[in-house]
Amino acid sequence: MTDHTSDPGPTAGRRVIALMNQKGGVGKTTTAVNLAAACARRGKRVLLVDLDPQAHASLHLGIDPDALEASTYTTLLVDTPDAIPAIIATESGVDVLPAETDLAAAEMELADATNRHGRLRQAFDAIADRHDLVFIDCPPSLGLLTLNALAAADEVLVPMQAHFLALHGVGKLLETVRMLSRSVNPQLRVSGVVLCAHDSQATHAQEVVSDLHEFFNEAASLALPWSGARVLDPPIRRNIKLAECPSFGQTVFEYAPQAPGAADYLALADSVLNLATNAQPQAETEVPVVEVVAQPSETAEAGSSREITG
Ligand code: ADP
Ligand code: MG
Repeated sequence: MTDHTSDPGPTAGRRVIALMNQKGGVGKTTTAVNLAAACARRGKRVLLVDLDPQAHASLHLGIDPDALEASTYTTLLVDTPDAIPAIIATESGVDVLPAETDLAAAEMELADATNRHGRLRQAFDAIADRHDLVFIDCPPSLGLLTLNALAAADEVLVPMQAHFLALHGVGKLLETVRMLSRSVNPQLRVSGVVLCAHDSQATHAQEVVSDLHEFFNEAASLALPWSGARVLDPPIRRNIKLAECPSFGQTVFEYAPQAPGAADYLALADSVLNLATNAQPQAETEVPVVEVVAQPSETAEAGSSREITG
């Protein structure tokens, strides 16, 4: 770890991307850390915001959440939120706004704060020109911390594992995005889904992916925050090196640069960097938030549902 942060520079085109899924264990943190590091390797100035009270992203990058003087928590709860004092530069090339476990209390304390959805966004105002990309690792809930991420973000990426319960809750997730896009953040778009720990040979995974394609294709002609969303390429293959590297406080690029996980996250970074991001939202049409897209499954999980549901 070094004691400086990225130099300030032009603000043009800064993208704030929230990694969001209220399910736990789907790959949010793994993606936030390694995608951020991959973008740094592509020469981008990257900030990773750890918004999860479990502080997994901070730990993953070798930061001890119990030894912090400033953190996302202090940033969100001071009167004039300012992220700068809390930002730490790491060996991975990624600047981090780390979490401490007190962040769990922030959810309750924020409930009584003024501008309770907009505190993170306000904090970012002070650092607008320091980074090209900001990734926010969200907690596994749709509470006030996640709402702060959605109010501060330009885009949402949804890490997901393509198994039979994966689509459960996506309707609720998208409804939350739509709520924020209708109120405090009209620019908010869903860029797409990142398939994590993916097994492209599994029939059931193929079915879930095909449901996702169909769902996004149907949304493409509608004016919704996810009408430009897609399943991003490549899927991130299941790779044990990705599961091992957090114990060493390293990204996959330091821990196992030759591993498939490193190649996949670099290729994903190229996809994300190439995404057209300036599509402006059109006026919304009144449509059901999520249509059921599942076909009856012929796989073993009898009674399982691949519907996109809340
Ligand atoms: P979340 O942040 O959504 O809770 P994590 O990123 O912590 O999910 O991932 C959950 C678990 O799955 C972790 O133990 C992580 O190391 C592991 N994992 C994530 N992606 C992969 C992958 N592509 N291959 C193998 N293990 C993975
Ligand atoms: Mg996590």
